[in-house]
Amino acid sequence: MDKYSNSRKDQLFKAPLKDMYKSDAKLKEPTLCMKCDALYQGGRWTWGTPDTTPDRGLCPACQRIADNCPAGFVAIDKGFYESHRREIQDLVKATEEKEKSEHPLERLIAIAEEPDQVLVTTTGVHLAQRLGHALTASYKGHAEYQYDDQKTRLDVYWERDKPGA
Ligand SMILES: [Zn+2]
Repeated sequence: MDKYSNSRKDQLFKAPLKDMYKSDAKLKEPTLCMKCDALYQGGRWTWGTPDTTPDRGLCPACQRIADNCPAGFVAIDKGFYESHRREIQDLVKATEEKEKSEHPLERLIAIAEEPDQVLVTTTGVHLAQRLGHALTASYKGHAEYQYDDQKTRLDVYWERDKPGA
């Protein structure tokens, strides 16, 4: 049952990930995201101020959030999460704040408590990577990083060292 639902989820997430969220070519410059005020100008997204009256659009991060189509997935052991819930939520949010301030397209989507794990999803692969590093820095253990071929998706599996291992 679990195997089945996992592989189904993978297929669902795989299909739309191609280049749908990298279509900056179509955007006029400057474009201001109508949801988060990220600015597309000079070929990149920043938190800057537009030079001229901007177009209004949706940035790729807000698109991913609206579609619930993550680029980064961080799996956390559920038992450990439950005994450190508040701490881990704070760590995740602090890591997002820092990453987002420098890179507007790196956002947290959700912290989802699933039956057998907790899955933190992000709009960008860099935030997922940062979260893996932050968990390892705070709680030791070990993180495994699996990118897809286009490096548009990252799965992070973090677990604590087993006692005595
Ligand atoms: Zn936005």
